[in-house]
Amino acid sequence: MLHVNARSYRLPTQPTVVVCVDGCEPDYIAQAVAHGQAPWLKRTLASGTALIADCVIPSFTNPNNLSIVTGAPPAVHGICGNYLFDTATGSEVMMNDPKWLRAPTLLAALADAGRSVAVITAKDKLRTLLGHGMNGLCFSAEKADEAGVLDWVGRPLPSVYSAELSEFVFAAGVQLMRRRGPDVMYLSTTDYVQHKHAPGTPEADAFYRTMDRYLAELDALGCVIVLTADHGMNAKTRLDASPNVIYLQDVLDGWIGATTARVILPITDPYVVHHGALGSFATIYLSASADRAALASRLAALRGIECVLTREAAAERFELPADRIGDLVVVSERFTVLGSAASRHDLSGLDVPLRSHGGLSEQQVPLIVNRRIDGLDGDRRWRNFDAFELALNHAQ
Ligand code: ZN
Ligand code: ZN
Repeated sequence: MLHVNARSYRLPTQPTVVVCVDGCEPDYIAQAVAHGQAPWLKRTLASGTALIADCVIPSFTNPNNLSIVTGAPPAVHGICGNYLFDTATGSEVMMNDPKWLRAPTLLAALADAGRSVAVITAKDKLRTLLGHGMNGLCFSAEKADEAGVLDWVGRPLPSVYSAELSEFVFAAGVQLMRRRGPDVMYLSTTDYVQHKHAPGTPEADAFYRTMDRYLAELDALGCVIVLTADHGMNAKTRLDASPNVIYLQDVLDGWIGATTARVILPITDPYVVHHGALGSFATIYLSASADRAALASRLAALRGIECVLTREAAAERFELPADRIGDLVVVSERFTVLGSAASRHDLSGLDVPLRSHGGLSEQQVPLIVNRRIDGLDGDRRWRNFDAFELALNHAQ
């Protein structure tokens, strides 16, 4: 048995693949199955195990990927966004550096236990966090040329803004399983397609058809496969298809003056073209003179706001590291996103109506295993970070 972050895992006896499909709102799978585009998933949903799980809030990529590979919420692993306000230096920084990681990953522990482990991500921003401390193969599709893997994957380097970036992850995973047969593989895609295309559209179905084909190949190689997602995805538009944004920095500056509040959007990452740094979660740092309770209730009364929590309440409810969030946490409703100041968002890259994530409305994700597991507690609140527990402790 392996003991990691207060959970116990059995060592794998069969090749094991955990797949995090970025932005996989459950309806993408239902629609692809309904349209006859995902025969492997259709079979697997019938003969394996199909659950709906809750991801961690904020429903963003980095916190959830790190939860899946640590088996723990952000309060334990420390990664609570793609981006944070570093109170130690007074600057806003990306959270890609492993120095922010507070817990070991299960992947590193499996490698230390002598198992061969491979990690393939779409975007390079996740690679150093997922591979931290891990003795094994870890590369991104985005920088596959630098990793020297283009030859054996047999595909050209994909653009960072393309469906092919995720396809490369699956293609590389299948090739790797064929050639080297790692004991454990973690595959993590990008939500480029999901930000642009709603469930059941031809473009979304085409993505899931491709994914389904690669998963069928991994299944045929004898792999235990667990598929989950980092978060869901929803339309965030007004009736006229313009982004439905509450610019919190502008709102607060208008209420209490320009230097009293600092709005941080943890969705911010180096790849903002498809979401303009607009998501349904924000955190706010307030100066000591600000009336926190009064601002919280005033914000909560705005149309489109789902909830406003104090730091302490947010840390408890969402299992977040209290020292890495602001005085207030704001979550917007399903059709609404939160911005900082309107002047700071470049929306010129949004060539289709905005779809995004970050809130409670994107919390439900699929949790699918290609093995039937009898006796699972259907009333348990399953989490996407139970993926490895299902894979290692129940599916083999
Ligand atoms: Zn994501
Ligand atoms: Zn996204």
